[in-house]
Amino acid sequence: MITWQIRIKGQVQGVGFRPYVFKKANKLNLQGFVLNSTLGILIEFNASEALADTFFNDLIDNIPANAIITRGSIEKISLQNFVNFEIRQSSYLKSDAAPLIAPETAICTNCKNELLDPKNKRYNYPFITCTNCGPRYSLIKQIPYDRENTSMNFYTMCLKCNLEYLNLKDRRFHSQTNSCPNCSINLKLIDSSFKTIATDVSECVAKVVSFWKAGKIVAIKGLGGFILTCDANNENAVKSLRAKKRRPSKPFALMLANEEAVKKDFELSEIELEELKSSTAPIVLLKKKNAHTYSEEIAPGLTHYGIMLPSTPLHVLLLNKFNGPIIATSGNIHNIPIIHDNKEAEEQLFEIADYLLEDDREIIISQDDTVIRFSPVTQQKMILRRSKGLAPTYINPKINWTKKNILATGALLKSTFSILHQQNTYISQYLGNLEGFEAQENYNKIVQHFLQLFSIQPALILIDKHPGYFSTQYGNQLASNNGIPTYKVQHHLAHFSAVLGENNVIETTVPVLGVVWDGMGLGDDGNIWGGEFFIYKNRNFSRTTHFKYYEYLLGDKMSKEPRISALATCWEILGAKEILQEKFNETEWNLYTKMLSSETSIKTSSVGRIFDAAASLLGLIDKQTYEGEAAMLLENLAWKYFAANNLNFKESYFTKSLYLNTISVNELMQGLIKDLNSKMDKGFIAAKFHFSLVTIIKKVADKERMQTIAFSGGVFQNSLLVELIKFHLKAYELYFHKELSPNDENISFGQLVYHHINTI
Ligand SMILES: [Zn+2]
Ligand SMILES: [Zn+2]
Repeated sequence: MITWQIRIKGQVQGVGFRPYVFKKANKLNLQGFVLNSTLGILIEFNASEALADTFFNDLIDNIPANAIITRGSIEKISLQNFVNFEIRQSSYLKSDAAPLIAPETAICTNCKNELLDPKNKRYNYPFITCTNCGPRYSLIKQIPYDRENTSMNFYTMCLKCNLEYLNLKDRRFHSQTNSCPNCSINLKLIDSSFKTIATDVSECVAKVVSFWKAGKIVAIKGLGGFILTCDANNENAVKSLRAKKRRPSKPFALMLANEEAVKKDFELSEIELEELKSSTAPIVLLKKKNAHTYSEEIAPGLTHYGIMLPSTPLHVLLLNKFNGPIIATSGNIHNIPIIHDNKEAEEQLFEIADYLLEDDREIIISQDDTVIRFSPVTQQKMILRRSKGLAPTYINPKINWTKKNILATGALLKSTFSILHQQNTYISQYLGNLEGFEAQENYNKIVQHFLQLFSIQPALILIDKHPGYFSTQYGNQLASNNGIPTYKVQHHLAHFSAVLGENNVIETTVPVLGVVWDGMGLGDDGNIWGGEFFIYKNRNFSRTTHFKYYEYLLGDKMSKEPRISALATCWEILGAKEILQEKFNETEWNLYTKMLSSETSIKTSSVGRIFDAAASLLGLIDKQTYEGEAAMLLENLAWKYFAANNLNFKESYFTKSLYLNTISVNELMQGLIKDLNSKMDKGFIAAKFHFSLVTIIKKVADKERMQTIAFSGGVFQNSLLVELIKFHLKAYELYFHKELSPNDENISFGQLVYHHINTI
């Protein structure tokens, strides 16, 4: 007999891992123990070599649904005697605890069956959970993940729940979120005069459904915060929600009762369905069918709607009863973070909602819903917002990180921060646009929450080069208050590093061309970059080519008004004046053209703004109401062309050979204006614009003799561009983001990777 020790690291807390080990050990009649240690799961047992092998392999191969293993090892230790197999009390040394924090998980099938079974004790109970499902990250105050360290601490388990909690064979063994109608989390439905109108579950559900039917707006507390809901088929209700939320055209997400309802009105591939029903429970962008019955008001001008399925027991009860689609949008007032506190909701959300359905379980950390889309031909997964259900743990399989604790503070508009701790990477959920005070407060709160969870001070803080970003200033402040060094990372190099890191190619010996296109980021030369080509070779980065600079006219206003991008890129082009001038009044025209001819000091190479310019020239939009609107409309228009034509497109606005290190914006826009003036089909022009960008990538790759290309930056949220690249650049090795968003959400992770590359 030999005594063996197994160590398993990863996401192994709060996912039913110890009972899982216990069952496997019992099946093989092993003697020993399992416990949660500071560094993960520790198992010791007696067995022959062959049996130990079988046990270890079986453990690693069939792990519980929400567990993730990052490292596993087995070794012989000195012989010990055990009488049975037991689960031993956990012991923690907080300072070196490195458990991965589990994300929120959609209601599992077992819980859903119990919820709907009149004979079950949790029939109709809207907070049913088990070790396989329910809230996690949102209610953790401290680690280890034990009940007294979560907001469940407020509720005392009844005798029956406690028996489940202590029973190894029960699905709720050590389920920290365990509760039932006898020891329940409580619902409360209130009206705008703060009067409680129902607390009983069936009554709350029936009333909310009747309010929806009457065209009312109801704010409902979920796992990440409040959502605002109304009947999606009631156009007046949708319009009223838009007006009150001051959100004229940004698309709303829909929650549909079930798979059948989705299939009836939306195109749904296997992989999209799988994602929709996954434990992440994201919003998935789906193409509406021609014969769909939905109002244009939901997503004006767009062919794709954001769809989700009920993912909490409360959603299931409500949608089963209503049996129709509802609008489900973040509960906040114009650009501030999602509201998650009952008191705040009562103070603020009645500006929009007629009723409020709250519960008394405290949300410690708020999160928006995750948003995902798949490109239509090759089904490339594109994360548009990485948040609830995915954040904060990010398992990167192969980077050998430093043991230092590092905070990377990210960018500005689609902010996140990342923390490297015990060689694990945590990427915060999407934290929105940091220009507003409330978003800044929320960002600070969540950074501090993490530092306190792990009881650490970072040894190093990584910041963007832009001194004006809140995240940069925040990092500098934290650093100077605590005597911590900082390290600056250029925005687009962070993007490139993020895609290299995600695809595990930082050790590559083959040079990689990085195509980094986005709205804006401060470049090394003081200009606003955004149309960049880099080469990564022998752990060195160099900027090889970029879109030729044009005037960064009117600063921030430029990114809000596509007509300004059109003017800045085309004002000198013959035949453009007629198209441009009517977009401005006389005062604006005189002022702006004068500014252009006198040359401002800052210039830009942004491809994001070139998309805006094209959208404006094609008459799609002159002033955006939300970020990315112009690019989405342009993509939509081009897809309409490709609905009738295959991707084997041939015409590009870039016809000349490329010798220089700058790409002529003039050549691109000149061609586009010529086609416009000769009354070419606008769908064709939009298609040609997209394809032109693919041809320029090829020209740069060939000029630099590159065979491997990686893509990052918000522009690559464009599914047509991705499909055209994959279709036309098949001869190259291509790397895209898969588990991270291509947009600025990946900057904080990219900062970690860039620092890693430059310090090893
Ligand atoms: Zn469950
Ligand atoms: Zn109970």
